[in-house]
Amino acid sequence: MTTAPFTLPILDLPDRPENRAICRRFHERPSRLPRIEWIERRGNALHSSPLGADGDVLALNLARGCWHQCGFCAARAYASYPGEAVLQVYSHTPQRLEEELAGRRRLPRAVFVSPSTDPFPPSSEVQAETVRVVNVLAKHGVEAWLMTRGFIRPFALHALAAQAKSVKAVVAITTLDRGLQRVLEPGTAPPRLRLRQIAGLRRAEVRVQVALDPLVPGLTDTRGNLDSLLRAVAGLGVKHVSAGYLFLRPGIVENLRAALCPHGWDESVLDAFADGPMLAAPGIAPARYLPKSRRQRGYAALMALAARHGLTVSVSALANPDFAPPRTACKSEARGLLHFGAARSTGQSTSS
Ligand code: SF4
Repeated sequence: MTTAPFTLPILDLPDRPENRAICRRFHERPSRLPRIEWIERRGNALHSSPLGADGDVLALNLARGCWHQCGFCAARAYASYPGEAVLQVYSHTPQRLEEELAGRRRLPRAVFVSPSTDPFPPSSEVQAETVRVVNVLAKHGVEAWLMTRGFIRPFALHALAAQAKSVKAVVAITTLDRGLQRVLEPGTAPPRLRLRQIAGLRRAEVRVQVALDPLVPGLTDTRGNLDSLLRAVAGLGVKHVSAGYLFLRPGIVENLRAALCPHGWDESVLDAFADGPMLAAPGIAPARYLPKSRRQRGYAALMALAARHGLTVSVSALANPDFAPPRTACKSEARGLLHFGAARSTGQSTSS
């Protein structure tokens, strides 16, 4: 007996059990935004982060879950991840933060907001909470480090501008291709909008860093993809970008496969990791990385291309634990150079 192939839109897969599961997941993706659920936090709001030595840089999570649903996201693979239908936002975070900072003998230099959830999801309610947290940190002279792939609403951008001296923003972007972006990070802001946000942040004199993070082998690290992206970024007056390759853990593989399989990209991407090392580092959960030589080649090609656009590139140490740290910086400063974009994926900054 012959079995009919799937005829589902954009999916053209042989009728095998694993493909049925993929198709089911694809079609069960929520079409509406998740609901917000305010929950009580257990434990401290501030917690350690792999970004700074000796409590120099702490982290704070605003919520569990993330509406952006990036296929490569490590946070979506945590046991505590609440699923795609809900964003569990911690109640009273600004107040808790205020109390914890007031009770500390030594204040951190910076707080990374928020490693396991984008601080600018498509919700004014949550973005307002992010702003309140930034304001509390600024009041105590502590920098807020924010990494986003989202749409920063005008009121939030205005608030960041008002605290520009205390804010450092990282805008992650890996492609200008809207179709590819939708596959890899379906809930995030469109690439062109992110470019406009980078320009807006720069105009507001907020320190902004552009992170090509994560580079996905064969998809976003290609010359064609990077050339147009680097040209656009350089056109904004940006002089420097950071970069880090994707790494894998079992939950990430599952989500990534579901995102890529309908387009036939899953095997080529995942196969690239076949001979890659499993690495762990202090504060970073073990993960499988691309072979070191593959990453070195990729970064070298990126740097050469970036130079043609007048851009320099720094490589994320958190995404490359087997690379030697920069020799010129002290330990704390070197960690600061790690470009906290990668911290979202380390799997360590997630406690509430
Ligand atoms: S990578 Fe960031 S923006 Fe994407 S789902 Fe994870 S936390 Fe959200």
